[in-house]
Amino acid sequence: MAVPKILLYYSFKPVPDTDAVKLWQRDLCEGLGLRGRIIISKHGINGTVGGDINAVKTYLKKTKEYFGKMDAKWSDGTGFDSEGFSLDFPKLSVKARDELVAFGAPDEVQVGSHGVIGGGKHLKPAQVHELVAERGEEVVFFDGRNKFEAEIGRFKNAVVPDVETTHDFVNELESGKYDHLKDKPIVTYCTGGIRCEVLSSLMINRGFSEVYQIDGGIVRYGETFGDEGLWEGSLYVFDGRKTIDFSEGAKKIAKCAVCGTSTSWMNNCLDASCRAQLPSCEGCADAVWCEAHSATADPRSAGTSKTNDQLSKATSNA
Ligand SMILES: [Zn+2]
Ligand SMILES: [Zn+2]
Repeated sequence: MAVPKILLYYSFKPVPDTDAVKLWQRDLCEGLGLRGRIIISKHGINGTVGGDINAVKTYLKKTKEYFGKMDAKWSDGTGFDSEGFSLDFPKLSVKARDELVAFGAPDEVQVGSHGVIGGGKHLKPAQVHELVAERGEEVVFFDGRNKFEAEIGRFKNAVVPDVETTHDFVNELESGKYDHLKDKPIVTYCTGGIRCEVLSSLMINRGFSEVYQIDGGIVRYGETFGDEGLWEGSLYVFDGRKTIDFSEGAKKIAKCAVCGTSTSWMNNCLDASCRAQLPSCEGCADAVWCEAHSATADPRSAGTSKTNDQLSKATSNA
């Protein structure tokens, strides 16, 4: 019987011919019946794919033959459609781009055969706790995601930069807002770790002197400590699941934008052209409009499903 699985992975390794790798990856996924999103750049590969466990295992094995060691995380998928494709992804998308994650700094980031050159030191989840035990409140957790992702879950007392997309980070770091943190131990974190590989190097280049990154990101931290550590809330993810809780006791730290109820859900603004994500409770899902669109809210268009649309709009900031 088919078992639905989702694989999230990345590898930083120089890719001399991104178009050739793109074609190979598309063929590989099509042959195995996988869906998902894969980005290839001269810096490496980043992807999330869903399908039957055996197909996904074969995919990972083949991809490792080219990229070598990679950070790979497994989770359970929702199921399959009538044709046997993963329900967690609307389609297969394989793209070659300038950057694996769009920071707008393709030429600043340097990658060697062992990964990003000059990035923050990797800490395993237990080492994060050791650092906090040693240095106490001096340690600063720095969110490497888009601001909206932090609304439903973040490290306690974390600094959450004011970024709508990853592209905003460079300006944010250069704004002077965080200069008082330049001599502090900073632990960057993001969903699966890839954004921090780049972000931590950008921070070090801009004078932050002691920068760490959580190995495997929030996902790996959650696997280790669940809700018993320094993490609080739910984890936003860019696939059909939308959020992951590490335990039944996950705290709902966001307030519904419509009625104020505590929630761990994020929903798209109902305006079809809008990418804004707002916390909302399940009961208010048909009434979620961002500030810019609340004035033009048309009650007749509310409640229409655009799930697949939303997914294809979501950026692959794994
Ligand atoms: Zn509500
Ligand atoms: Zn909107």
